[in-house]
Amino acid sequence: MDADGILDLYRRFVMPNYGPPALVLVRGRGARVWDADGRVYLDFAGGIAVNTLGHAHPRLVRAIRQQAGKLMHVSNLYAHEGQGRLAQALVERSLPGGRCFFCNSGAEANEGLIKLARRWGAPSGRYEVMTMRNSFHGRTLATLTATGQEKIQQGFAPLPEGFRHATFNDLDSCRAAVTDRTAAILVEAIQGEGGVLAAEPAFLQGLQALCRERDLLLMFDEVQCGIGRTGRWFGFQHAGVEPDAFSVAKGLGGGFPMGAIVAGPRLGEVFQPGSHGSTFGGTPLACAAGLAVIETIEEEGLLAHAEAMGALLAERLCETAARRPIVTQVRGRGLMAGIALDRPAAPYQDALREAGLLVIATAGNVLRFLPPLTVTPAQVRRAARLVDASLKSV
Ligand SMILES: *Cc1c(COP(=O)(O)O)cnc(C)c1O
Repeated sequence: MDADGILDLYRRFVMPNYGPPALVLVRGRGARVWDADGRVYLDFAGGIAVNTLGHAHPRLVRAIRQQAGKLMHVSNLYAHEGQGRLAQALVERSLPGGRCFFCNSGAEANEGLIKLARRWGAPSGRYEVMTMRNSFHGRTLATLTATGQEKIQQGFAPLPEGFRHATFNDLDSCRAAVTDRTAAILVEAIQGEGGVLAAEPAFLQGLQALCRERDLLLMFDEVQCGIGRTGRWFGFQHAGVEPDAFSVAKGLGGGFPMGAIVAGPRLGEVFQPGSHGSTFGGTPLACAAGLAVIETIEEEGLLAHAEAMGALLAERLCETAARRPIVTQVRGRGLMAGIALDRPAAPYQDALREAGLLVIATAGNVLRFLPPLTVTPAQVRRAARLVDASLKSV
């Protein structure tokens, strides 16, 4: 079927909630994808921080193929090796002594964190979860309420109770938002959808101190910035803080849908039999993908590589910013990068796609770059050249 035929099916049968698709893609390899007309693109959208190892990484493909032929799904009535090993791998890289719960998406992982906070707070009558304005935590009713952006909540009233919003990077506003009912603070180490805004280490350290002082849980949403993207396994590790629990999803399966909660020792046994669950959580197939992603990051040295490629990208984007006054800021950490413009970013996203580079416009005036951790220096330089040229031409 040709591109027009496919788009026609979308127009007639797929809900229009994402807006009209910009491209019809047919295959990918590393940081490149090909469309239905055979045009190749450098993929710095990265499936929105999902394609950790790029497209069709042989190691990930092999792991999924082999596991699919062996055992795909058993339900959580039964154990299998992959879930145990992936839980161990996540815990050992983040919160030693902790435990994991597996699910299927970022929203579901955050929903789990919210339930964990409520269950923990219930004996003391506390249930409120504080989140930040301009945050993004997902599209379920609870997580869209946690999300501090009205446009995401429009038309979905009544929203669930028990959420309060404070200002990101403003410790005083967080302190002021604590009530007798507060159980937890949930924060992104780097706001992704909000425009690639990193939390200041001092802010996160202050949140940790506030949580200790008021006996609150400190929780991180690592759905976008986790799994090596920033040059460390998890974004909070840059600030040297230790959360009580955090969520991961996007990059965890490298394209295979999965999510997880990792809880430290204090929360590891709050969920008891019957308190939470997910039919598809942590299947043998998903866990084989997750383990392949983590092992490949380690074996290919992709944490250090992400840091180096992020530094190269930031350096080139700063050169562009110095030359092009429409760039107001270069942001991010590692391979979660963005540039803020003094005008809407969408036309530049479209122009770059025409020029062969996929990037994501977000928060109105920000262009976001989320290439695979395997991206090469030549690909980073080429992307930066295309960005520079597009900012000149429009
Ligand atoms: C994408 C995202 C989510 C939601 O994840 P889904 O898998 O789309 O449900 C939650 N939090 C953050 C920080 C995200 O970037």
